[in-house]
Amino acid sequence: QPRIPNLVKLNTNENPYPPSPKVGQAIARAAEAGLQKYPDPESTALRAAIAAHHQIAPEQIFVGNGSDEVLAHAFFAFFQHGTPLLMPDVTYSFYEVYARLYGIDVTRVPLDAQYRIRVDDFARHADAAGVVMANPNAPTGVALPLDDIERLVRLLPQRVVLVDEAYVDFGAESAIGLIDRHPNLLVVHTLSKSRSLAGLRVGFAAGSRGLIAALERVKNSFNSYPLDSLAQAGAVAAIEDHAYFQQTCQAVIASREALARDLTALGMEVLPSAANFLFVRHAAHDAASLAAGLRERAVLVRHFRQPRVNQFLRITVGTPVQCAALVQALRELLQ
Ligand code: PMP
Repeated sequence: QPRIPNLVKLNTNENPYPPSPKVGQAIARAAEAGLQKYPDPESTALRAAIAAHHQIAPEQIFVGNGSDEVLAHAFFAFFQHGTPLLMPDVTYSFYEVYARLYGIDVTRVPLDAQYRIRVDDFARHADAAGVVMANPNAPTGVALPLDDIERLVRLLPQRVVLVDEAYVDFGAESAIGLIDRHPNLLVVHTLSKSRSLAGLRVGFAAGSRGLIAALERVKNSFNSYPLDSLAQAGAVAAIEDHAYFQQTCQAVIASREALARDLTALGMEVLPSAANFLFVRHAAHDAASLAAGLRERAVLVRHFRQPRVNQFLRITVGTPVQCAALVQALRELLQ
C-alpha cells in the first residue's frame, strides 16, 4: 500500500466502500469473548451462514484465509495429474504461481479477439489435469455465460473445473447453483471485493461433498486454524447483512456504468465489464505512459507488461469522487 498523500487508489480492485458496520461490532464482540482460546477449526458458523446465503449445505463449503489460500489448496488437491492444467492465456496471475509451486504444467488457451473465453477450445484437451478460470475474467472483466460453464463441466466430467468468481457479485451469473448437478465443479469466492473485507482475509469454495472433503484434508495438513476467531465473526456479519451488500454492489455497478461512458467519451475502448473494474485502451496513447502520467497526478491504475494486454489499463471502479478525479487526470493526459 503506497504512502502518497491524497492518492486515488484504483489499482487493486478493492471496494471503495467500507464493510457493513455490523462487521466491526461482531469483531469487537468476538474479541471480548476471549482470544485466549483457539478458533473453531471448522468455521462452523461461517460455513452455515455462507450455505444459507447460497441455499446449499455447509458440507458443500470450504473456507480459507483469503481465496488465494483456497486456490492454493485446490491446486494441490486436484491438479497434480502429470498432464497440463488449462487456463486462459489472459487471466489471474496467481494461477501460474501456484502451478509452478506444485510443479503443474500449464497449457494457456487463447481468448478470442474480443477477449472472451471459448469453452470449446478448452474441451479439446481431453487429457488435461483440469481447468481454472476466473468468471468474470481478470483482468478483462469479461463474463462467461453460465451455459458455457455447464457445457465445459459436462465435457470434462473426470476433471475438476475451478471457476474463480472473485468478482461475480458485480454483475455475472454464479455457477454455485450448478454444484449439485456437477461433482467436478468447484466455485471459489472471496469476501475481499463485494463484501469490502480485503483486510480480513476470507474466501471460500463451494462444491460437491467429495471435493470439499479433499480440501479439508489438505488444509488440516497445513494449518487447522487458517481463520482466526475475529475473521470468522466478521465474515458471518458481512454475509448476513444482505441489504448492505446489495446496496454497495449496486453503487459500484452504477459507478462502473457511468465511468465506462466517461472513458468512452474520452476516446477509450472499454471492454464490457461484469466486475468492479474496467479494462480499457486508447488507440493513440501508450498504456504504460498513461499509467505513469496518472501516477504523477496521484491516481494509481494497473498496467500489465504482458503480451496481448500491454496496451490496456485496468481501472478499479471507485467512488463517484474518485472516478471523477481519474477522468479529469486522463482528460489532461489525452489532450
Ligand atoms: N481471484 C481473483 C481473480 C482475484 O483478482 C483475486 C484478488 N487479487 C483473488 C482471487 C484473491 O483474493 P483474496 O485472496 O483477497 O480472496
